[in-house]
Amino acid sequence: MRLSDLKTGESGVILKVLGHGGFRRRIMEMGFVRGKSVEVMLNAPLQDPIEYKIMGYDISLRRSEAEMIVIITEQEAQAILKDEHIDSRQADCLEEAVSRESKQINVALVGNPNSGKTSLFNAISGSHEHVGNYSGVTVDAKRGYRTYRGYKFVITDLPGTYALSAYTPEELYVRRHLETDMPDVVVNAVVASNLERNLYLTTELIDINPRIVVALNMYDELEASGAKLDYDSLGRMMGVPMVPVVAKSGKGLEQLLDTVIAVYENEDERVRHIHINQGSVIEESLGILNEDMGRNRDQLPKMFPPRYFAMKLLEGDRDVEKMLRNCKDYDRWIAIRNRESEKITELLEEDVETAFANRKYGFISGALKETYTPGKHEEARMTDAIDALVTHRIWGFPIFFLIMGLMFFCTFTLGAYPQEWMEILVGWLRYAVELIMPEGVLRDLIVDGMIGGVGSVIVFLPNIMILYLFISFMEDSGYLARAAFIMDKVMHRIGLHGKSFIPLVMGFGCNVPAIIASRTIESRSSRIITVLITPFMSCSARLPIYILLVGTFFSAYAGLVMTMLYVFGVLLAIVTARMMRRFLFKEDETPFVMELPPYRIPTMKAILLHMWSKCAQYLRKMGGLILVASVVVWFLSYYPQTDDTVSKSDHYENSYLGRIGKACEPVFAPLGFGWKASVALLSGLPAKEIIVSTMGVLYTDGESQDAEEADESALSAQLKASGDFDTASAAAFLLFILIYFPCIATVIATANEIGWKWAAGSVVYSTTVAWIVAYAAYNLIGWLL
Ligand code: GDP
Ligand code: MG
Repeated sequence: MRLSDLKTGESGVILKVLGHGGFRRRIMEMGFVRGKSVEVMLNAPLQDPIEYKIMGYDISLRRSEAEMIVIITEQEAQAILKDEHIDSRQADCLEEAVSRESKQINVALVGNPNSGKTSLFNAISGSHEHVGNYSGVTVDAKRGYRTYRGYKFVITDLPGTYALSAYTPEELYVRRHLETDMPDVVVNAVVASNLERNLYLTTELIDINPRIVVALNMYDELEASGAKLDYDSLGRMMGVPMVPVVAKSGKGLEQLLDTVIAVYENEDERVRHIHINQGSVIEESLGILNEDMGRNRDQLPKMFPPRYFAMKLLEGDRDVEKMLRNCKDYDRWIAIRNRESEKITELLEEDVETAFANRKYGFISGALKETYTPGKHEEARMTDAIDALVTHRIWGFPIFFLIMGLMFFCTFTLGAYPQEWMEILVGWLRYAVELIMPEGVLRDLIVDGMIGGVGSVIVFLPNIMILYLFISFMEDSGYLARAAFIMDKVMHRIGLHGKSFIPLVMGFGCNVPAIIASRTIESRSSRIITVLITPFMSCSARLPIYILLVGTFFSAYAGLVMTMLYVFGVLLAIVTARMMRRFLFKEDETPFVMELPPYRIPTMKAILLHMWSKCAQYLRKMGGLILVASVVVWFLSYYPQTDDTVSKSDHYENSYLGRIGKACEPVFAPLGFGWKASVALLSGLPAKEIIVSTMGVLYTDGESQDAEEADESALSAQLKASGDFDTASAAAFLLFILIYFPCIATVIATANEIGWKWAAGSVVYSTTVAWIVAYAAYNLIGWLL
């Protein structure tokens, strides 16, 4: 607990002091160091300061200071030792508990997007999170553990940021994490081959003054380029220990962890808090504000230093203003701030923020001039050469469309072969179960409900694997960022920018991560639009139903129809985006930089891991949601029981499922859908794959089945034979599935990102549009034919 929680007469032993470096030092110099016991002389509820006795002295501390001191009481010590199965009756149990608890180091991983934080996180904690060469991959904090030399590391992987201002959700998120979680050590992942830019974040961290260790990641690339870096001097100059590592191979990891331990234990002599000189003009203003705030630092929160607050006030940082709003002297500080920032703008002819940034970049290039010798820039030249081609004004587009074409060709045309094998396997399985099991409800449940339902979807696993293989390769290699770059101009036409393009391409795989990835878009309105149009990117869950229906009703020009479906989705996205820009959000707020990360050949291992995790996810969906849905659909279609004289189709029609479908029929009849199609559409609400498994249950009855005849083609044949669909209604059905209600997971993701109102709006909008489009298509095609 915290020292401030102790009541008069109680005592505890100090575990650690939180807060910024200056505060920690001051408190520790007063004698509040680990292992020392403190007793409360007087802690009256409303009284500030509180009186303590430590090492025989009486000392008073502000309540806000005592809140930053973590202690362990006798009771807590016993609980801790009991948890660890250690005899807690011994005399020195407090000492033992403190020594145990102090061996836990909370580490936060901070760095630019693509600096290798997640790779580092994986290397340290040994877990397999997906690593991608795109800034949107890490969106939430992830936590991992590692024990090393008797210490327990608790590592948090934070979203990538370029700075710690309050402009993007990521920046705010990271800053809030530092503010509220107060990690013991911040590990700053820095791309060694791109120091100039990466060290900017380091300077931002230095202003906050936590314990920092810089991990100079991708050191292999720096060495390969022939560059030289005196990282030890650089670290000393900046007061931050630096350790070269190669996160991908785990090289340098032990040194990194050793350094973290040393810094945590205050044993690294390179650690020093520096002030980055902001130049005479700013320093003078900063001095005035800082002096006033420092004098009244009792009012300030203790996690960040007073100088930091002064700097942020000068910058006009809203979030920090909010943090300080309740301070007694806030109004005076704001008055000083307004006066001083006006003076700065006048003298420097630039705003305070720009002035700070320029100064920081100056600091970095100065530091690098002394410690860094550039190499031959082999990689840069290679990157430039590839970029010249793939981002070429004219060639860029054909190359992009070629790659997309190749992706879809492989998914559908090549994917058809393994898909056939899967079909044969499922057919065999079905046949085998029919042979082994006696006739009855249970056999029907397994054969028609489970195998019929799940089997009809699982055959598409190979197609989905191929699609993901392409998407993850594009993402990991850095190509997707280039595609976004060349698409920037096109995207501007629809009121978005290139950054929105990446989530949209990811949407072809699955809408959920795509929606989460749009967090990196700085402008709020662009973010909202991107999230809302993502569901029109036809995700892989819709693929099975396309393949089934297109193969059944449009087999002569399957490729064309399939392409048209995807293109139609994209067109709808474009129209929607344009309309939103026109009617809802007039203009775009923030300008932005689109950076081009260097190309990397993704390792085989990374690609396979990524693909496997997607497949595992897909299989889990099969074994869970889709299995349950298939069984439910089967039950509803099996009961109430009818006797053998009733024909199969009459039985279905009379079943509960048939009744539900009939109830919905009026809504769907104008689109040419019968009750079975209506039921299938309803069942697709949780996940669109379920549409196929529902049809699998409804349309295959196992009677005409033999082992040779594959499951899928049987379903296809029976669909055709049923006469439920003609060309027009099949087309309308496909369009309806493309457009209507995105799955539940997507709606939840949308709500999480941009709010429930938008999510609800999106559901209503997409379903309405789906109905209208399907209606138009049904009537138009019917009329044409
Ligand atoms: P994050 O965005 O900061 O989490 O970065 P990631 O961990 O996702 O890594 C971005 C890219 O850098 C991936 O393609 C990694 O394979 C690659 N990468 C990570 N560490 C290294 C390294 O030490 N050397 C090289 N050459 N590549 C690396
Ligand atoms: Mg990451």
